Amino acid sequence: MEEKTKDILVEVKNLKKYFSVKKGFFGKNTVYTKAVDDVSFYIRKGETFGLVGESGCGKTTTGRCITRLYDITSGEIYFRGKEIGRVKERSLKNIRKEIQMIFQDPYASLNSRMTVRDIIGEPLDIHNIGNESERQEIIYELLNKVGLKKEHSNRFPHEFSGGQRQRIGIARALAVEPSFIVCDEPISALDVSIQAQVVNMLEDLQKDMGLTYLFIAHDLSMVKHISDRIGVMYLGKIVEIASSKELYNKPKHPYTKALLSAIPIPDPDVTEKRQTVVLEGEVPSPINPPAGCRFRTRCKYAMDICKEKEPKLNDVDEEHFVACHLLKSSS
Ligand code: SF4
Repeated sequence: MEEKTKDILVEVKNLKKYFSVKKGFFGKNTVYTKAVDDVSFYIRKGETFGLVGESGCGKTTTGRCITRLYDITSGEIYFRGKEIGRVKERSLKNIRKEIQMIFQDPYASLNSRMTVRDIIGEPLDIHNIGNESERQEIIYELLNKVGLKKEHSNRFPHEFSGGQRQRIGIARALAVEPSFIVCDEPISALDVSIQAQVVNMLEDLQKDMGLTYLFIAHDLSMVKHISDRIGVMYLGKIVEIASSKELYNKPKHPYTKALLSAIPIPDPDVTEKRQTVVLEGEVPSPINPPAGCRFRTRCKYAMDICKEKEPKLNDVDEEHFVACHLLKSSS
């Protein structure tokens, strides 16, 4: 166990994030959307942990809780062994320097009235890094790192393509030399032809700068190459965690199997042999999720116990965790 948890940079324990949805006069009948509901995982230094699931499963909310863009409802978040989940806003400055975020939409995440120089320079100002000429040099260096040129610094976001805008967002995230970056669907809004370029660049930056990533995506094919380990989320819960190789070759949870079977394989022989798992029905509401296993309303293996008892995330193989009554814990 000691070996397994060696070099942990980020650890999330029993994280919950509920959003209140007020109903009726004076918010009398307040109900809660359980966006993240008792999620635990860890990320080692220098690795990429992929977090995958359908839209609304809670993956982005999890990322925003870790970066402390959202206050958490309960649970603990550790960064370098220090609990940061309850740190007050005024003490967050140092954490924000260490933990940065790259956003999904490169159009919406950049201020259209600021030049690239001002966008990348803003975090340097906030954290009082360098004098004016040093900042200028840092900005040029960052532009170079993300494959842009010095002359781009005087331009505005609308003068760039989607891929270039995402590079600007990455340069901004790198400005304060963070050690951990939450990449929230950073390639989903980009053309397929550009996606691989951005993923390769993120991998190169990781090697050069010793970065650790939480890489969020809605599709397993997007995280396959970049992730060392992957967590699969469904309706606010993690249902499976394994190394990228293990998850692709030996998925164990019925939901992971369904997600994997939806990935097109450009080889007709493999496609023919592969069993397609079609997910029936819609994802239930996170306001009133099913009792027991949350996946049971769409699971073809559902048994009586699945209605009655919530499956725990058990270690079923070497660092392969699954929450399903079909599988027994290895311990
Ligand atoms: Fe399906 Fe039951 Fe496993 Fe849930 S616990 S995934 S319903 S078999």
